[in-house]
Amino acid sequence: LGRHRDDQRPTHFEYNGVRFGQDTLNVFAGLCAVDNREHVEIMLKALRDNGQVCTRMGAYKPRTSPYAFQGHGKNCLPYVFELAGKYGIRVMAMEITHESHVDEINEALHQTGEATGVMLQIGTRNTQNFELLKIVGRQTKMPVLLKRGFGITLDESLNAAEYLASEGNRNVVFCLRGMKTNMADPHRNFVDFAHVPVVKRLTRMPVCVDPSHSVGSRAASPDGIMDMMHVTAQGVLAGANMVLVDFHPQPPKALVDGPQAMLLDELPYFLEDVQIARDAY
Ligand code: PEP
Repeated sequence: LGRHRDDQRPTHFEYNGVRFGQDTLNVFAGLCAVDNREHVEIMLKALRDNGQVCTRMGAYKPRTSPYAFQGHGKNCLPYVFELAGKYGIRVMAMEITHESHVDEINEALHQTGEATGVMLQIGTRNTQNFELLKIVGRQTKMPVLLKRGFGITLDESLNAAEYLASEGNRNVVFCLRGMKTNMADPHRNFVDFAHVPVVKRLTRMPVCVDPSHSVGSRAASPDGIMDMMHVTAQGVLAGANMVLVDFHPQPPKALVDGPQAMLLDELPYFLEDVQIARDAY
């Protein structure tokens, strides 16, 4: 991905009709966690109506508390992939926390006809789960969205990405999602989107920004979305190649991270803002 001295190959790639590279921009709006079929369908229909072909959907959720909703896991995959096919979704970002999830995803994709592709998301809690990275790198050619570790150096996170590449999977997008600090921050995490051009300089990976997990709450700004919109625009203006963002048809009913979800009514404005920032880049 740019850190091996003999390695000069470009890292742009195409997956299921969608191109990923340091010169493209893809928006992955969707549910942080799948809660029920109805919400998945409403979300995907809104994306289709707004011309989107990518989404995010969480089935396996890594939660701080063992008593919190852990995601529906493989049980929701058949209807999630069926609906994704129905609404023309080409690529869905989905977090995995264990290698067995890759097999479950492949099996469900196969059963629903594989119209949709999955980008395997490795979350910030697993950035340095080297065994998981090695297995995903070795056993799959699905693209991987690797989140930056929230409490480690940038260099350590970039080396984590190399674990995927060194095992054979170079289809990696690197995601900035904010850092933990011990300051009394106004946001859930310290927004680190100033590092978009840094990562692009140091590596050949496309870079994603995640405004939802960085800002972390609509309550951070008086009108609920200002901070989320601003940091997204900052990330895109800095050259981001992908935006991963939480939306929900009824945020108060969301089982995970409802307070940071944007409303479906806001989707067209959000997409318009992203486009304006992209045009200005
Ligand atoms: C997520 O995107 O659903 C998520 C849990 O993100 P992170 O790993 O950045 O906390």
